[in-house]
Amino acid sequence: MYNAYMDYLKSEEWKKKSKMRKNYDNNRCQNCGQEIKLNTHHLDYDNIYNEDVKRNLKTLCVDCHRKIHLLKKRKRRSDGTIIITEFS
Ligand SMILES: [Zn+2]
Ligand SMILES: [Zn+2]
Repeated sequence: MYNAYMDYLKSEEWKKKSKMRKNYDNNRCQNCGQEIKLNTHHLDYDNIYNEDVKRNLKTLCVDCHRKIHLLKKRKRRSDGTIIITEFS
């Protein structure tokens, strides 16, 4: 699943969505406003491979992106299972 996801991030389909989201956010990091080194972050992984550009994604610069992922690397569900939220 992880490798499939990594491949997906290199796909033309993802690049198109990532670009759409950046345009939508005026090519600015939605956390600090920086206009360079932008990534597209998944707010959730519910619709992975079939993301709603407006609802599931967010434009962040590399630095803010990294910080967010450090904060939410692993989440434990109430039933005890751990979901990894370390994807891009
Ligand atoms: Zn930023
Ligand atoms: Zn991310």
